[in-house]
Amino acid sequence: MTKISNLGVVETLKGLNKKDFSSVEVTKEYLQLIENEKKLNAYIHFNTEKSLSLAELSDERRAKNEALPLDGLPIAVKDIFCVKGERTSACSKILENFIPNYESTVTSKLWQAGGVYIGKTSMDEFAMGSSNETSYFGSVVNPWSKEEEKLVPGGSSGGSASAVAARLAPIALGTDTGGSIRQPASFCGTVGMKPTYGRCSRWGIIAFASSLDQAGPLTRSVQDSALILQNMAGFDNLDSTSVDIKVPNFLDSCSRSIKGMKIGIPKEYKINELSSEVENIWNEGIRWLQDAGAEIVEVKLPHTKYALPTYYIVAPAEASANLARYDGVKYGYRKEDIKDLEQMYSQTRAEGFGEEVKRRILIGTYVLSAGYYDAYYLRAQKVRTKIVEDFNLAFKNCDAILTPTAPTGAFKVGEKNMDPVTMYMNDVFTVPASLAGLPAISIPSGLDSNGYPLGLQLIGKGFDEETLFSVGTILEKSANFKSI
Ligand code: GLN
Repeated sequence: MTKISNLGVVETLKGLNKKDFSSVEVTKEYLQLIENEKKLNAYIHFNTEKSLSLAELSDERRAKNEALPLDGLPIAVKDIFCVKGERTSACSKILENFIPNYESTVTSKLWQAGGVYIGKTSMDEFAMGSSNETSYFGSVVNPWSKEEEKLVPGGSSGGSASAVAARLAPIALGTDTGGSIRQPASFCGTVGMKPTYGRCSRWGIIAFASSLDQAGPLTRSVQDSALILQNMAGFDNLDSTSVDIKVPNFLDSCSRSIKGMKIGIPKEYKINELSSEVENIWNEGIRWLQDAGAEIVEVKLPHTKYALPTYYIVAPAEASANLARYDGVKYGYRKEDIKDLEQMYSQTRAEGFGEEVKRRILIGTYVLSAGYYDAYYLRAQKVRTKIVEDFNLAFKNCDAILTPTAPTGAFKVGEKNMDPVTMYMNDVFTVPASLAGLPAISIPSGLDSNGYPLGLQLIGKGFDEETLFSVGTILEKSANFKSI
């Protein structure tokens, strides 16, 4: 019999429904694999008892023919989603002992659909990073690494991407502010979907940059992604930026033809930093879509080159405001043995935050400060509008845009973490869609010359995830990518 962990979400649910195996068996198999692969450091927190009792409850529902849409399916959760009663630290020392007494809307929807909590995955501290090296709990390893060289899984949802790629979960939740679902998906050879801003509720997700943060799934196939997003999305009163719009049947869109669709190719993405291997895969992707009957058109996104600097002003600005709440007073780490309140604030923050988070807070505070606000923050907001307008114009001429997800494949642990600007270059192709609030998906499309995965990104119109699932399925089929 096939190992359960080799099955995707859709097949696992079929097996559960046919009673080929029970949810307790599925959950136990994953827990065992997680134990065997501890060296990846993908997970940082478990509650085995809770997972097994949820699995038992699920089996009881199925036995009574009351199975829910995702009943019995183990789900790994990035440590940025509040899960009631489970430590939620955003992989920061400052929240090391924070146990929320409420549940994020997205996780709560998944539990209501029958999902089984299997554990918390590691991430860059407060989701700031592209390599998972800023996690307070240590680097995560990309399961594609060879014995002699440890590769990063990408970030910030690196634990989730590593877990899904190594079959330590059929699906894992991620968040994406500037690429944190898509770039690790590309590095680990998984599918990573960032929905439209407003599609999934942000309530109960530890905030990084509130005008950009979105939740989404990391999975091993496009149809799994569609099914999970279906169960995460929807309007929520608790998030004022959540949009009250119908959630379509995403699974249906996976089998739709793309004949006659127009796919835009922006030449502005052909930057110097683009590796020739990634460019080759991009060209191959273009051919695959043409072969499936799509029409390839050139689109112009002239403000693309400003997207990265704009993001690295807007995101830190919002982060500096969001992270002001960690002051040692209400919750989280508090420095003891201090002489006064001010010292308590400053020492708590100096010791509680890691280096990258402090860098962002300093940049954010600087660009918002009197005298610099107009020159940096205000100007960045204006450029953001230009980027939105670029996409609006481009989408008059096409249904989706195809680009690489990242300029290179996975790199070695320690290779880029000493130079923040080199690290930020990882996000050059993912931040434009984030700034414009558009949905985007990364599909594993090939391997580089070292045999490591490379992803292609599809960017869609606002609230048109359906087209991304249709076109993504074609890329997936054509690439015929073999996961590990
Ligand atoms: N790598 C980007 C950053 O460090 C994006 C992070 C994210 O999407 N959370 O800001």
